[in-house]
Amino acid sequence: MSEVSYEVRGSTAVVTMNRPEYRNAQNSAMTYALDAAFTRAVDDDAVAVIVLAGAGEHFSAGHDIGSPGRDVDTSFDRTAVLWWDHVGKAGADARYAREMEVYLGMCRRWREIPKPVIAMVQGACIAGGLMLAWVCDLIVAAEDAFFADPVLKMGIPGVEYFAHPWMLGPRLAKEVLFTGDRFGARRAYEAGMVNRVVPRDELTASTFALAERIAAMPRFGLALAKRAVNQCEDQMGMRSGMDSVFGLHHLAHAHNAETSGDSLAGLDARAMKQ
Ligand code: ZN
Repeated sequence: MSEVSYEVRGSTAVVTMNRPEYRNAQNSAMTYALDAAFTRAVDDDAVAVIVLAGAGEHFSAGHDIGSPGRDVDTSFDRTAVLWWDHVGKAGADARYAREMEVYLGMCRRWREIPKPVIAMVQGACIAGGLMLAWVCDLIVAAEDAFFADPVLKMGIPGVEYFAHPWMLGPRLAKEVLFTGDRFGARRAYEAGMVNRVVPRDELTASTFALAERIAAMPRFGLALAKRAVNQCEDQMGMRSGMDSVFGLHHLAHAHNAETSGDSLAGLDARAMKQ
């Protein structure tokens, strides 16, 4: 089974998360498959724009914390080498290594992909799913899309890629974190988090129409424009903010491990859903 599918339509590469039976929960196999697919799209001169999609009813329910394919203790062929392999390490050393590599580090690298990336979001886009949508340059959401970061239920102050204040503004970021509640596509649009909200049956056509319009622009100019906005976003504190919050995130994991013996405070996917 392939966790990620890849196809090229015109000048647009479509990278699709392909675990619909688990609402595209991201295990490490999927993360490394995404990394490989993005690399392929960047290296293909015929590809101008990348669309990131989720197969089935939902974009992504988040990181895999309970499917049979959960693979936290598995090593993968690591091409970028952001940190040492977490397998065989203990405690915070293992957690920090794994999350630096597959969560924060990968997401940051994907944000810097030198071609425009559009997230095409339907249904659930939760926690780790939000991270993937946020690293994309544009987000097109179906009317049925909903978003949430409920990890405070685990005592953790938000997902690893802590873009919340920049994506939502401080006020909504706090509400989303404090309540763990879902917010819909319309609210996300009003907050400036998504670019378009379209009927579900128009999601694919709208996204590809947008992709093809962008694809007509000069390739190098697009890459520079992307970098320009990203650099300014980092001047607005996003990168350094994320670095400092990653420490708080790991303080919470360590606190959970110290007090309950489990870095996720004993909550799996089913418990989180309730
Ligand atoms: Zn974490």
